[in-house]
Amino acid sequence: MLRAKNKTGLVFFPAFDWAISPTHPEREERLLYTQDQVFEEGLFDIDGIKEYKPDLVTIKDIQRVHFCVPDVWSVTTESHFISAGGAKTIGMAVLEKQVDKGFALVRPPGHHAMRVVHGARGFCNINIEAVMIEYLREAYPINRVAIVDTDCHHGDGTQDIYWHDPDTLFISIHQDGRTLYPGSGFTDELGGPTAVGKTINIPLPPHTSDEGFLFATEHMILPILKEFKPDIIINSAGQDNHYTDPITQMNFSAQGYATLTRLLKPDIAVLEGGYSIEGALPYVNVGIVLAMAGLDYSGVIEPDYRPERIRQSPEISRWIEDTGKIVLAGWRQRDRIQEELQASREFIERSRDIYYDTDNISETQKETIRVCRDCSGVFKIDSSSSRGLHILAVHIPRKACGKCIEHGHHWFDTADAGGFNKIFMQDRTEDKFLERKTHDAGR
Ligand SMILES: [Zn+2]
Ligand SMILES: [Zn+2]
Ligand SMILES: [Zn+2]
Repeated sequence: MLRAKNKTGLVFFPAFDWAISPTHPEREERLLYTQDQVFEEGLFDIDGIKEYKPDLVTIKDIQRVHFCVPDVWSVTTESHFISAGGAKTIGMAVLEKQVDKGFALVRPPGHHAMRVVHGARGFCNINIEAVMIEYLREAYPINRVAIVDTDCHHGDGTQDIYWHDPDTLFISIHQDGRTLYPGSGFTDELGGPTAVGKTINIPLPPHTSDEGFLFATEHMILPILKEFKPDIIINSAGQDNHYTDPITQMNFSAQGYATLTRLLKPDIAVLEGGYSIEGALPYVNVGIVLAMAGLDYSGVIEPDYRPERIRQSPEISRWIEDTGKIVLAGWRQRDRIQEELQASREFIERSRDIYYDTDNISETQKETIRVCRDCSGVFKIDSSSSRGLHILAVHIPRKACGKCIEHGHHWFDTADAGGFNKIFMQDRTEDKFLERKTHDAGR
C-alpha cells in the first residue's frame, strides 16, 4: 500500500445551497469534480491521507476578525460558517499533530473579505483563512504566521486584515492588478506604518507560465519566508492561474501548482478561487494533495497539457526578474521605510473607498492608527456604506501595550452614540468583542 510521507488531512465542503446565481462561475460543481477525481485516483486508499468533516465556526470566531455590518447574520449564510469551519477543522488537526499537513477544499471562498464587512466582494463574505488563523492563535501557542496567496486575484481582503500586524507575513502572487480584479496588489503596497514589509505583493504579467511562477517562488517568496521564520505557513490555494481558467489570463499548470506546493511546504492549504471546473480543478487539487503528502505527482497531467503552447515569452521572463528586484528591495528596506513613515507622528490616518462588486455596495472608510513603539498600535475605522449604515470600529491588537488598550477604550467609550448606527470594539488582549448601545439599538 502507498504511504504518505506527510500525514495529510482533507476536508471537502462543496456548499450545495450557496451560489450567487445558477450559472455563476462560483458554484458547487467546482468541488464536486475534484471530489470525484480524488476518489478515482484512490487518494483515500493511501495510508496517511485522511478525510475530516467540517465543523462550524462560531459568531465569536468571526467577530475576532470582522466587523460585520449591521451584524454577522446579515452578511453570511450557514455555508460561510461551514466553509470557515472546514478551514478551522483542518487547522486544529494540524496543530494537534493528528496530521502533518491539511488542505481545506471548501467554498464559499474568503480572500477578498476585509476587516469591515458590509456585504460580499469578489464572491467573498468572510475571510476563512483569517477566521481560522485567529482561532488557532487563541487556542495554540503560535504567533508568527505566513500566508502565501497563490490565487490569480490579489488577496486584498487578507491584506487588509493583516495590514497592521507585524506578526503576520502576507505574500500575494497574482495577475497584475492593471489587468484583473480587484485592481490592487502592487509592489509598493508593503503594510501599515507599524508593519512595513509584512505585506508583500508580487504582480505577474498576463500569460506567465510555470517558469515565471516557480521563479517568483524560488527567488522572492522562499528567501523572504526564510528570513521571517513563521511558526506556520498557510497557502491560500486559488487555482485560477490555470491556463484553462475562463476568467483570468495566466498559463499555470497542475504540474506547476504541485511543484510550487512542494517548494513552499505549507502546513495548511485553503482553497480559494479556480473556475475551470473540469479542465483544471480536479488535476490541480490532486497535484497539490500529492505534493503536500510528499508523494510523486509526475503523473498528474491535464489531457490537453502542451507546455510548448503555453510557455511564456522572454519579455515576460525579464519583466518578472525586474519585479523580483523591486520586491526584494522593498523587503530589505522595510525598517528604513517604516522609520520614515512614522517620523515623529503620534497618529496616522488614511481614507479610502471600497467597492463590493458582488453586492453593489460602496463603502467610505477613515482609519486612524496610533503609532506606537511598544506594540503594533490600536486603530479605529469610521465606515459608512451606500446602504446608509455608519459605524465606528475599534481594534485593540493581541499584544497591545497598556497605553494602546487605554486609548482603544477611550475611543469606544466616548464615540457619539447619536452619530453611529453601530459602535464596535475588538479587544484582542481579552479575546472580547464589544458593542455599545446606539440610537440604532432596536434595529
Ligand atoms: Zn494572490
Ligand atoms: Zn481568484
Ligand atoms: Zn501600544
